[in-house]
Amino acid sequence: ATPTAVMVGTGVGASQGVLIKGGQALEKAHMVNCIVFDKTGTLTMGKPVVVKTKMLKNMTLGEFYELVAATEVNSEHPLAKAIVNHAKEFRDDQENPAWPQARDFLSITGNGVKATVKGREIMVGNKDLMSQHGVNIPEDAEEMLAEAEERAQTGILVSVNRELTGVLAVSDPLKPSARAAISVLKSMNIASIMVTGDNWGTANAIAREVGIDSVMAEAKPKQKAEKVKELQAAGHVVAMVGDGINDAPALVAADVGIAIGAGTDIAIEAADIVLMKSNLEDVITAIDLSRKTFSRIR
Ligand code: ADP
Ligand code: MG
Repeated sequence: ATPTAVMVGTGVGASQGVLIKGGQALEKAHMVNCIVFDKTGTLTMGKPVVVKTKMLKNMTLGEFYELVAATEVNSEHPLAKAIVNHAKEFRDDQENPAWPQARDFLSITGNGVKATVKGREIMVGNKDLMSQHGVNIPEDAEEMLAEAEERAQTGILVSVNRELTGVLAVSDPLKPSARAAISVLKSMNIASIMVTGDNWGTANAIAREVGIDSVMAEAKPKQKAEKVKELQAAGHVVAMVGDGINDAPALVAADVGIAIGAGTDIAIEAADIVLMKSNLEDVITAIDLSRKTFSRIR
């Protein structure tokens, strides 16, 4: 393609809300035959809501959510935002919930968070987080986790002083554009793969809903990037679509990194293409634009 054609192509992209950072990204997009999708915030809305709480210890919901929110208010994770929002409902002044001070806040990437609130150690996260800290998970908590996973929800565990105190179920529905995008890609002979830090049960349930049959769950940021490299080594031209800090290494590793416009700044910076409308069908817009630009030659 001529430099003019590339300029026209990126211009058309921009007018449709598909920001293409340079000619190389536009050129590579039409060669992509394999796309890796992040789950949370990419295939799903990324606006999770708490739909259920189960208490395992004798504590009021108000007390419980005060400890949980004081911890999670320090986290940028979409799950943390959902939990803090829900916790406000148990607060007298919902406009100004004024959570107690948390000390020694620690974010354990891909597992959860930990802090000391009112002299008690609070942990909020997945099973891994609990087992790493020697917290026993009773049978009724396991049951609730399994039930959440079956419904494509994420179960989150809360411990107070290393005792499992409550379980939350969080629901994050699919984006309306997700199913259609995956189905069109399939008809274009482009394979879709989902990678996520979430657990296998929830990941498989979401994948089934969206129509993806290849899944990698419980993946750390480094493993997402390794998955991309593995596909490249097998001869694929790989695009990665993601929204989070934890997707940045994979976005950089991919032949074409595609960030969701509503995502984090770090993902947007790491990507070659940004979907300003956060609509997954614009992955196809980008590929089409690349095809048109690079087949119009001579
Ligand atoms: P994804 O790849 O789907 O965006 P992450 O790698 O960010 O997911 O997180 C993986 C899992 O770690 C979550 O499903 C959750 O169980 C746990 N987790 C991470 N951060 C938090 C948090 N702030 N609060 C509670 N749980 C968390
Ligand atoms: Mg994400």
